Parts: sequence; structure tokens; C-alpha cells
Amino acid sequence: MTFNKIVVPAEGERITIREGKLHVPDHPILAFIEGDGIGPDITRASLRIWNAAVQKAYGGQRQIAWMEIYAGENADRLYGSYLPQETLQAMKEFLVGIKGPLTTPVGGGFRSLNVTLRQELDLYACVRPVRWFPGVPSPLRRPDLVDVVIFRENTEDVYAGIEWASGSPEAQRVISFLNEEMGTEISPEAGIGIKPITEFGTKRLVRKAIRHALENGRKSVTLVHKGNIQKYTEGAFRNWGYELAREEFGDVTVAEEDTWAGKSAEGKVVIKDRIADIMFQMMLLRPSEFEVIATPNLNGDYLSDAVAAEVGGVGIAPGGNISDFIALFEATHGTAPKYSNQDKVNPGSLLLSGVMMLDYVGWKEAARAIIDAYVKTVAQKIVTYDFARQMEGAKEVRTSEFASAIIANL
Ligand code: NAP
Repeated sequence: MTFNKIVVPAEGERITIREGKLHVPDHPILAFIEGDGIGPDITRASLRIWNAAVQKAYGGQRQIAWMEIYAGENADRLYGSYLPQETLQAMKEFLVGIKGPLTTPVGGGFRSLNVTLRQELDLYACVRPVRWFPGVPSPLRRPDLVDVVIFRENTEDVYAGIEWASGSPEAQRVISFLNEEMGTEISPEAGIGIKPITEFGTKRLVRKAIRHALENGRKSVTLVHKGNIQKYTEGAFRNWGYELAREEFGDVTVAEEDTWAGKSAEGKVVIKDRIADIMFQMMLLRPSEFEVIATPNLNGDYLSDAVAAEVGGVGIAPGGNISDFIALFEATHGTAPKYSNQDKVNPGSLLLSGVMMLDYVGWKEAARAIIDAYVKTVAQKIVTYDFARQMEGAKEVRTSEFASAIIANL
């Protein structure tokens, strides 16, 4: 397809899918969305670091050809639309990209751009690795014990947005049907929300989580659910998760229950499950027991931010939304509009999302180089305002200066 406003870099090549795998050339075209508010500041800083790390790791043999695509306020200015069709098309064609935060205009029935992107591109897994880096301020005594990757289902659950307001004709119709034909006793004044969870949606998420555990030498996958109460949605999620592990990964996984009965877990990934409420407690008190988590949408939403808070907060938590192949990595915080264009905020969340992206395309050396330089910079107490206010003896620097310090440490 030819694009209207998007300029495809002539020096780059497309990432393609061959025999069920991503094929990444040495000069891949990667898409980026700058984002609103603080988006331009953190994107500018991160682009410098990603490019410098790739140069350092591969000495010019590999290079990213960046292609800007548009969403949010930039897109509105250029196209008169917050999410132009060609942005979605570009992601479908070029497969891998990264985005800064986007404003969700409040009211007027406006759907969140992030939710729309996830739904339109069927980015069914929201992946959030959460680990601690030495020196980063944390409320825990042992934040070093936190090292999990959360796979949150992105397309189903009460998040699917199927709901009707209290008193609306639709809600009343649903309530009449349920009360008259299904024997329920729902108040006619109730607002109604629907929670669909399917075997297909569950299994494709859990499959991704188990594959991740196997490919990265992780010892367990925990299914987090509320199945004791919501038996046919959350409970079914749990059951389908175990079923998938048995059917597709029977030789390399073992259910925790079977280990209690004496089966060996040696060399296998243990599949276990925990009820959501106790999971919040366990992630605080015994975080080292968890390595990979797979969970439905709403639990995952709460859990990802709560666990991120244990190791420094959403200001540095990275994330990615991934389908079978298309992947859009993103800063997990919002646009923090009061800090727009002040060169002040922490670029950590976007930067580390870019590290996930480099890992995703198989450029592990560049990803590793950034992590090492990031750790070194924070250990030198060179940090942005948000960390500086929680650290003694810190040197507070601007976003761009933080980027320069990391590049110097590469
Ligand atoms: P926010 O933009 O995340 O900001 C809340 C606070 O978090 C900031 O005031 C700041 O705290 C801190 N913060 C956020 N990013 C930071 C960074 N990079 N470095 C340091 N501190 C950072 O949340 P919000 O104010 O609720 O939302 C603002 C807009 O963003 C809304 O339009 C919302 O819809 C949108 N949003 C977008 C996304 C997304 O695109 N993925 C996600 C969430 C929200 P202090 O004030 O303490 O310094």
C-alpha cells in the first residue's frame, strides 16, 4: 500500500514472517508513534539510546530504519483523525513498532486509542516484565526478589466493553430476559456489564506465556484467576490453561498438583494457579515464587501496576502488546501533560519497552547493552526528578542529560 503521510525509509527493509517465524533483516524498518504530552521528550531521548546501543553492539552492520507513524494529537493535526487508518495498515504491514503515551480525550463516547489499537490489531497479549534494578527506589525491603513477566489477556473479560447503563432500554431488556427466562432476581435499576471469556482467547494467551517460560529458562507459569467465585469465566480460564499445558506442552511442563503427588519437576516448567486476591499478597510477601504469570484482562490490569509499584512504579515499567506476530511496545504511563516539553521526566518506561522490542526482533546484544548502561547510570545516582526525590545524594538531570549519561555508559 502507498501511504498518504507516512514516509517509508528507503534505506530500510521490511520484517517478514517466514515459516511461522519473524525474519528480521539487518536494516529493519521499525515503526514509532511519538505520543502526546511528554511523548516527544521521552521518544527523542530513547531513540538516541536505542540507536547508540545498536551501533555499539553491531558496529554498523545492523541499523534500525525508523518510520514515524501517527496517532493522537499529531495525527489529529495531520489527518483530522486521532487514529488514521494508514497507521493501522502500517502496523499490519511492518509488524513491529513502539509508541509513546496517548491522550484519551475525556467524554463524548471517545474510545481509548490504546484500547482501539489493541482491538483493531488483535494484540491479545499485554506483556509486562517487572524486575528491579539496583539503586531504583522501592517500598519493599527485598525488591531484588521481584522478577516476573505478566501476560495479561487483552481482548476479552469485562474489558470487552459490553455494558449498558442503569435504566437504559438495553439494560432493561437484558434484565427482563435474565429474570423472566433464566430465573435471576436482578434489580431493574442495575447497570449491566458482560464478561466473555473463551477457550480460544485463554489458550492463545497461556500458550504465549508457556513458550516464553520455555524460551527463557523460567521455572513456572502461574494462572491467576478468581475462579472460586466466577466459575464459568475465571474458573474456565484456569481449567483451559491447565488443559493447554497438558495437550501441547505435556512433555516439558508439570502441574503443581502432580508434584505434590510425587511427580518430578526436574527440568520442567511447573504450571500452577493462584486465586487473584491472595496473589496480591503473595507478590508482596513471597515474590520469588513467581516467574511468569498468565491472567485475564481485569486481574492483569490491577496486578501489573501493583507489581510495578514494588520495583519503582509505572515511570519505569515497560510493556508490549503482542498478537501472533504484530507487536506494539509502549510506555505504560500516561502523557503527564503538566510536564510536556520540559525535558524533565523519566524516559525509563519507553526506553525499557524498546529493550523488549530489541529482544523481540532477536537483537539481544543491543538489549543487554542498554540494561547494563541503565543499571550503571542509576548506580551513579544520575537520575531524573522522580527518582531524585526518593534517593539520597542523587544528581537530578534532565531527560536528555539522562540519555547522554546512559550513552556514555554503553
Ligand atoms: P500519567 O500521565 O501517567 O501521570 C501521572 C503521574 O505519574 C505524573 O503526574 C507523574 O507524577 C508520574 N509520571 C508519569 N509518567 C512519568 C515519567 N515518564 N516520569 C516521571 N513521572 C511520571 O497519568 P494521568 O495523569 O492519569 O493521565 C494523563 C493522560 O494520559 C490521560 O489522558 C490518560 O488517558 C493518558 N494515559 C495514556 C496511557 C497510554 O497511552 N498508555 C496510559 C495511562 C494514561 P508526579 O506528578 O508525582 O511527578
